[in-house]
Amino acid sequence: MKSEIIAVGSELLTPYRQDTNSLYLTEKLNEIGVTVAFKTVTGDRRKDLVNAIRTALGRVDILILIGGLGPTEDDLTREAVAEALSLTLRRDATQVAALHARAAAWRITMPPNNLKQADVLEGATLLPNPNGSAPGQWLDVTFADYRKLVMLIPGPPHECRPLFDAECITRLREIVPARVIAKRTLKAAMIPESQADKLLAPIHTTYPDVETTILAHAGDIQLNLICVKSSQEAAEQRVDELASRVEEALEDWLYSSQGESLEQIVLYYLGLRQATLAVAESCTGGLIAQRITSVPGASRSFLGGAIVYSDALKAAFAGVPADLIAQHGAVSAEVAKSLAQGIRLRTGATLGLGVTGVAGPTGGSEAKPVGRVYIAVSDAQKNEALERTFRGDRTRIREWASQQALDLVRKRLM
Ligand code: ATP
Ligand code: MG
Repeated sequence: MKSEIIAVGSELLTPYRQDTNSLYLTEKLNEIGVTVAFKTVTGDRRKDLVNAIRTALGRVDILILIGGLGPTEDDLTREAVAEALSLTLRRDATQVAALHARAAAWRITMPPNNLKQADVLEGATLLPNPNGSAPGQWLDVTFADYRKLVMLIPGPPHECRPLFDAECITRLREIVPARVIAKRTLKAAMIPESQADKLLAPIHTTYPDVETTILAHAGDIQLNLICVKSSQEAAEQRVDELASRVEEALEDWLYSSQGESLEQIVLYYLGLRQATLAVAESCTGGLIAQRITSVPGASRSFLGGAIVYSDALKAAFAGVPADLIAQHGAVSAEVAKSLAQGIRLRTGATLGLGVTGVAGPTGGSEAKPVGRVYIAVSDAQKNEALERTFRGDRTRIREWASQQALDLVRKRLM
């Protein structure tokens, strides 16, 4: 069954707030086999909201409205649903009493406006909201043979989410035909985007029953495979089949078949090889160490390292000879290798990682433009540097560099 979520609130149309509730709801809906076909964000304008509700009911069977159930003038969801569906609103005596009791418990006098939270749509079931004053509402209506389910859910996330879990999901489960969902997340590092498309498009388009979404981030692509079927076995089988074809096509670029992060995989391989890692970071300024140490248990394989931004610290903490910097420049393959080896020897790690580059926006030259990065991994056998030139702003260049560096360590360990 198809659904639409309407997030109501003018603040959600500003640069300062985002509709995050719908992400949570989407996950829960998908788990019971309901897809989200549309998401709409509207401001607190009754006319716009009525329009949005009518449009939604013309294209989906399940409509979930989030927000606008509070006591203030701009909370209009109940009124808009009543108008859009030509239903009356009735003030519920039990709810009125509950609001009075709540106000008394908090020792506040209740403004008359608050009472509109006790207004119930004709035919609706009230959904208890243990974390707030406005209850949710559940409507199960049939217009000209079309059955529509409409839910009104409060906007504050700590009210919206538990209420949806406790009240809506259980009710939906009884109505929605039993469907199960199989999911897989595959990830690949440093594959050029055009290459990824060329390899993957011909494969996943032959699996129309598996929904494939691709998320790309600096040097990282994530493929989410989702299949909804009436039996778990059938859904799993289709996802596994497509996943193994994708794995084959992505070859060495693929680093995870179960959704792990690149830093998790690097730590996994370090553990497997009983190896340790230390880093000497210049242009990434600790980003690589930050990513690795965000994984619980990183201390088993990650020793630490140094942020060696100045030439003096490159010498003091990683033993880079001053004349090497003078000869090749701080941003050079030679200095990256010296950083990698220096930090390895000083820390006693099995592997040393050295990164130096021009993150920009200034400091570039013809020979070494903004985005030029040198990354080296040193172990007892070899010390090799990679030259890359990344595009984008400072943040993106640093993200790309950290991704490339982690990927280089992964490849060395494989
Ligand atoms: P209240 O009784 O608190 O007024 P309400 O149902 O009227 O509840 P809103 O006034 O629309 O809800 O929103 C209350 C708070 O919840 C706001 O801070 C708002 O930014 C946040 N919020 C509303 N909708 C969403 C959403 N879709 N995602 C994330 N936060 C939201
Ligand atoms: Mg409100």
